[in-house]
Amino acid sequence: MTEYNDLIFEISQPGRTAFSLPESDVPSVELTTKFPKQLIREEPAELPEVSEPQLMRHYTSLSTKNFGVDNGFYPLGSCTMKYNPKINEDVARYAGFAAIHPFQPIETVQGAFELLYELQEDLQVISGMDAITLQPAAGAQGEWTGLMMMKAYHTKNGHRTSRTKVLVPDSAHGTNPASAHAAGFDVVEIPSNSNGTVDLVELKKQVGEDTAGLMLTNPNTLGIFEKDIVEMAEIVHQAGGLVYYDGANLNAILGQTTPGMMGFDIVHLNLHKSFSTPHGGGGPGSGPVGVKEFLIPYLPVPRIEKQKDQYVLNTDYPDSIGRVKGYYGNFGVNVRAYTYIRTMGPKGLRQVSESAVVHANYLRKKLEPYYATPYTQYSKHEFVLSGSRQKKIGVPTMNIAKRILDFGYYAPTVYFPLIVDEAMMIEPTETETKETLDAFADVLIQIAKEVEETPEVVLNAPHTTSVRRLDEVKAARQLIVKYTK
Ligand SMILES: *Cc1c(COP(=O)(O)O)cnc(C)c1O
Repeated sequence: MTEYNDLIFEISQPGRTAFSLPESDVPSVELTTKFPKQLIREEPAELPEVSEPQLMRHYTSLSTKNFGVDNGFYPLGSCTMKYNPKINEDVARYAGFAAIHPFQPIETVQGAFELLYELQEDLQVISGMDAITLQPAAGAQGEWTGLMMMKAYHTKNGHRTSRTKVLVPDSAHGTNPASAHAAGFDVVEIPSNSNGTVDLVELKKQVGEDTAGLMLTNPNTLGIFEKDIVEMAEIVHQAGGLVYYDGANLNAILGQTTPGMMGFDIVHLNLHKSFSTPHGGGGPGSGPVGVKEFLIPYLPVPRIEKQKDQYVLNTDYPDSIGRVKGYYGNFGVNVRAYTYIRTMGPKGLRQVSESAVVHANYLRKKLEPYYATPYTQYSKHEFVLSGSRQKKIGVPTMNIAKRILDFGYYAPTVYFPLIVDEAMMIEPTETETKETLDAFADVLIQIAKEVEETPEVVLNAPHTTSVRRLDEVKAARQLIVKYTK
């Protein structure tokens, strides 16, 4: 029979599997530098003492203060808020990935570079490009990186001062014109036609010898596929410009077609959108950029390359735009995206776009009788409704968005794209069930009825969230970012 004292001994025995962590295969780094004496404490620091339950409650409470894909449906159009599979997190925590340092000699971290190299190759195939850089930390930084390459290309060809204009459709995400400005270009807006696609006549009018390039999202931010894309690319190419693909909507075409096939020269992808890595409160993200062969000399350095069986960093690209981010991009995010691509496989990735598109069209059809639908053709992975009917009877779209929160959902993107009055942009993504889509549709239908029958309920929403209705003007004018009880 086990004695009481034996029991204690058993539990505290070292080496028991329940308490031991897996061993790291990373060479340990010895702390050889001694700290200067005057920097070493004489007394131990006075650190707060808290019990495990206090600590647990603190962090658990913090974890519930925000809304995310792990606690509910998040139909935020354009952002692709899909579920982040937890296997990605497991893999990102392997000691061989999590416990390495970017300053380690490259021979000691060959496995990490193998992963980055293979991720580059996978993204190359997925985007139809000839080379990829993993450096940019977000889509917007990818845009800027791509535009700097566009500029370097025109400079090399003697058109630095003549090709000053970047064409951007009026349905574009705000980062497109912003990135073009930041890269030193002038922005020319191209209007959309009544189908919600780029007007070719307008495009032809604007394209000329001063065109540096065109930036385009396809499907565009209305969720509509630009079916004239090949012709558009030709028009711009014939005028000597380049064509840039904003890959934020890749979820709609994964495994079906590629920006390369559509004629694009430069592409950015948003790994935190299409490839299921966390959006995490503004970062870190990853916005790899792909280019066609003729632009490879301009890619950021160092380039991760394979020479014989070794992965190496190559900086020998004299025409490179230089480094755009420290180290090699957001490594942990890239590990997650790699895990996602490898667990899904080619078939799985194709299924993503099929389901994302079916889900969006299903939801759009259910909601069409209740909200104005400016574009009624089949959408891709997202669609845009208008709250114009509700606005006419006194309830603007912002109130509808706030009322949605009462039902435990995040609100759709509102007032974007700018070309749709009272826009509500909904992207369900492929990771939601039919039950979730039905329940969300029921809520939007109920709200449409409330607007007609009991508008004050919608006008005073939200009613159930911990933060009641904000005074938005005051919040903008007297910004207090400090937490107060
Ligand atoms: C999200 C988004 C961007 C910007 O990407 P970030 O990763 O947020 O910087 C650009 N274009 C479109 C269409 C987007 O949806």
